[in-house]
Amino acid sequence: MQKITMTTPLVEIDGDEMTRILWQIIKDELLVPFVDLKTEYYDLGLEHRDETGDQVTIDAAEATKKYGVAVKCATITPNAARMTEYNLHEMWKSPNGTIRAILDGTVFRAPIVVKGIEPCVKNWKKPITIARHAYGDVYKNAEMTIPGAGRVELVYTPADGSEASSILVHEFKGSGVVQGQHNLDNSIESFAKSCFEYALDTKQDLWFATKDTISKKYDHRFKDIFADLYENEYKEKFEKAGITYFYTLIDDAVARIMKAEGGFIWACKNYDGDVMSDMISSAFGSLAMMTSVLVSPHGYYEYEAAHGTVQRHYYKHLKGEETSTNSVATIFAWTGALRKRGELDQIPELQKFADKLEEATISTIESGKMTKDLALITTLENPTVLNSRDFILAIREKLEELM
Ligand code: NAP
Ligand code: MG
Repeated sequence: MQKITMTTPLVEIDGDEMTRILWQIIKDELLVPFVDLKTEYYDLGLEHRDETGDQVTIDAAEATKKYGVAVKCATITPNAARMTEYNLHEMWKSPNGTIRAILDGTVFRAPIVVKGIEPCVKNWKKPITIARHAYGDVYKNAEMTIPGAGRVELVYTPADGSEASSILVHEFKGSGVVQGQHNLDNSIESFAKSCFEYALDTKQDLWFATKDTISKKYDHRFKDIFADLYENEYKEKFEKAGITYFYTLIDDAVARIMKAEGGFIWACKNYDGDVMSDMISSAFGSLAMMTSVLVSPHGYYEYEAAHGTVQRHYYKHLKGEETSTNSVATIFAWTGALRKRGELDQIPELQKFADKLEEATISTIESGKMTKDLALITTLENPTVLNSRDFILAIREKLEELM
């Protein structure tokens, strides 16, 4: 069989621990035998990030800007324990945070739906993709405890020296708390743009919700920015693609989600996205079945699994014990990236290969062969539990049948 050739390299961002082990097996067994894989490799394993003073993370993000598509393995975000474990020079920042800051993107998370792993909301038939605005609001707040009676005001002092304005927050009679939040038109616009683009890209409806009836300036601004951008730039494109943009109040959205069938994107403000993405992933079954893609408003894409480096399994692996770590989300990170590369470079064989690898992965699970995390929650009878490597080899067998 002739291998599929690529023209533009994919930015390959390697990572840490158990997911790094899976990464290599996936490449060796599921990619290299079928695709003449062309990648530009960046090693974001923690040792190498430390050796390069984290420059490699910046280089990987810049390469993503250059080529447009990246695939990333999960990486350790160092904390105090990791400082000692890896004898680090510095407590390096989260690579995902660094990359997101450079690409200015929005993260879209979607569950991989297979028969036998049923969502606990029984009418959810298709994935619900969550887009979380990752700037501002309560995550960049200024808050104070108020010890006793007194007046709290918000004051805006214009940089150009013109007159300041203020508004009363509360005239405290006793002790309490207060909080100031902000957001930026630019950031909300980028978020909106990424959402509209991704909806077009994946041909799914887009939902957005805030509490604009209560927050008539703050939340209303989010609503207006989305509405203006839709009217001016996306309405026609959406109509042509046969998809819709739907705005409602956040409580109405939550109520409707429970009755919906899925198959759409739900754009959320920062806090709503934090809370709702955990609800959606747990309701769909498992974090190990959740994909994640960073979409920048400039059209750069970075694909990864939503889960971390699965540290506990890695330590078992190091002791020579058998592991049964689920590689599905990491495989789908690769298929997402390869499909996008194929689309941009007009290589239909590459797109078809991505489809087939996903099909092989899903049908392996549906035939009863799966990793332990899925075996614990499946509705299929007598599932076969495979170890990390054998699960990937089972997928390879299916893939060979399909090729
Ligand atoms: P985690 O790696 O997501 O794993 C937490 C637990 O979830 C695991 O111990 C395992 O449960 C289960 N799990 C997650 N993925 C699985 C998979 N593919 N197959 C089977 N089970 C899976 O989260 P963590 O342990 O909190 O974090 C470990 C490291 O990952 C940290 O250093 C963190 O900084 C990093 N992290 C990176 C990213 C990223 O790069 N995007 C995201 C999150 C966390 P059992 O132990 O019960 O089997
Ligand atoms: Mg959360």
